[in-house]
Amino acid sequence: MNAHTTTLLVIGGGPGGYVAAIRAGQLGIATTLVESGNLGGTCLNVGCIPSKALIHAADEFEKTTHFADGSALGISVPSASIDLAQTTRWKDGIVTRMTGGVASLLKKSGVQVIKGHARIIDGKTVEITGDGESVQRIGCQHLLLATGSYTTELPFMPFGGRVISATEALSPTVAPQRMVVVGAGYIGLELGIAYRKLGAHVSVVEAKDSVLPAYDVDLTKAVATSLKGLGVELHLGCSVLGMNAGQDAVRVRGANGDEFELAADQVLVAVGRRPRTQGFGLEGLMLDMAGQFIKVDDQCRTSMRDVWAIGDVTGEPMLAHRAMAQGEMIAEIIAGKKRHFMPAAIPAVCFTDPELVVVGLTPQEAKAAGMDCIDALFPFSANGRSMTLESKDGFVRVVARRDNHLIVGWQAVGKSVSELSAAFSQSLEMGARLEDIGSTIHAHPTLGEAIQEAALRALGHALHI
Ligand code: FAD
Ligand code: NAD
Repeated sequence: MNAHTTTLLVIGGGPGGYVAAIRAGQLGIATTLVESGNLGGTCLNVGCIPSKALIHAADEFEKTTHFADGSALGISVPSASIDLAQTTRWKDGIVTRMTGGVASLLKKSGVQVIKGHARIIDGKTVEITGDGESVQRIGCQHLLLATGSYTTELPFMPFGGRVISATEALSPTVAPQRMVVVGAGYIGLELGIAYRKLGAHVSVVEAKDSVLPAYDVDLTKAVATSLKGLGVELHLGCSVLGMNAGQDAVRVRGANGDEFELAADQVLVAVGRRPRTQGFGLEGLMLDMAGQFIKVDDQCRTSMRDVWAIGDVTGEPMLAHRAMAQGEMIAEIIAGKKRHFMPAAIPAVCFTDPELVVVGLTPQEAKAAGMDCIDALFPFSANGRSMTLESKDGFVRVVARRDNHLIVGWQAVGKSVSELSAAFSQSLEMGARLEDIGSTIHAHPTLGEAIQEAALRALGHALHI
């Protein structure tokens, strides 16, 4: 058995682990990263990037379909078709380029990358089983757990056959005729809408009473309307019971207790993700847990000295940018810098049609927190750029303290609003007030002008409405 020691040992090469390792390498910390699958983790291989690639392809195809029916723009094409196997190859090309990029960055930072399954022996020792069952033992001063999460399976409807997870849904070769999506959360709606645009008949079954139940209803109303327009069938307040005997339909209990079946060539189950805390000896450390997640403090320290944890394995929100921010911080703390994970806000973006962005507090959350706030929204129907993009639905909303106008939240819904999230986050991190945003020159014509106008409206003097 091989044996060596390192200062920092990272288990997991997803956005949390690889960012921690790159930054540690930059800071001159001897770092080893162990990854059993592909570098980039869920995010680059079967999550953020491939899903956005598929969503883009579906949007382009849908647009072309409309052009085949003629369009207000005067564009027409004879007919539209899509070769989904080629779309998947294109998406795979992006993934390969990005995971290869991560490998190069790790190499450039001097990080030792080991492909293999890590098993914790104790807080300072990890055993790695690589290809061909070769085993090596690594001693470390700091152990970083970045093992991520995995898809939740419904016990009465396990994956296999027609029942698939997002991973399979991200590599289609043909679109199913009828897809049933279980769960109207992030994945269910992002991919459900994409599949609808690719030509599938899509039905969504959601246990709660609204789509994207974690989001503010003012925002999700627009998504619900769009789903209707796209022809996505919604079954809210319903629970799935399993596949029927013929395995070609999903049995559903309706909101009134009635039972019915939804025919399905494919069933995409997207009912959440669970932290990966088993199968690698974690229990031996007897760390304090926060429910199913590893408990960490505001420096991502676990209850054991020099054992750290970041990303999905540490809790909500399970988002790539949270994992990356924590990873960067850990490396700096180990290098001796004073850092704490106390962001003013962690932006949440849903890449549905229309897109949603939430950064900081909604008016309801501010009220619930006992804050006296004002809020104002600016609709894209009054924004010139939106009109030129054939999209006048949606709005930007700002929430600010009444007394000193400190901005505490932004929300937006509409086409391409994901790109506004940077401005929202910056304004919160920098402690901007309504006057700061209202008096900043925003380029014309851009969607960003709606940000300035929302701030001006909260101050009582919007210019374009
Ligand atoms: P992961 O990315 O899960 O990486 C963990 C890694 O650890 C894996 O590569 C795994 O193989 C490895 N590992 C685990 N155990 C071991 C072991 N014992 N030995 C060796 N290696 C091990 N988030 C966003 O912010 N924006 C999005 O648009 C977005 N879209 C998504 C779309 C989909 C379909 C899915 C499924 C997720 C999406 N997410 C998105 C969530 C995002 O992918 C995760 O929040 C993010 O990947 C978490 O990063 P992580 O480093 O904590 O874990
Ligand atoms: P989710 O938590 O976003 O949504 C799950 C949905 O399934 C919820 O609405 C829930 O009420 C519903 N549900 C649960 N059990 C059900 C049942 N038995 N029958 C019907 N409905 C049921 O989870 P997800 O969509 O699987 O995504 C997992 C995680 O991945 C997200 O929480 C997020 O952290 C991450 N993600 C983020 C993005 C993004 O940032 N744009 C995109 C995709 C995924």
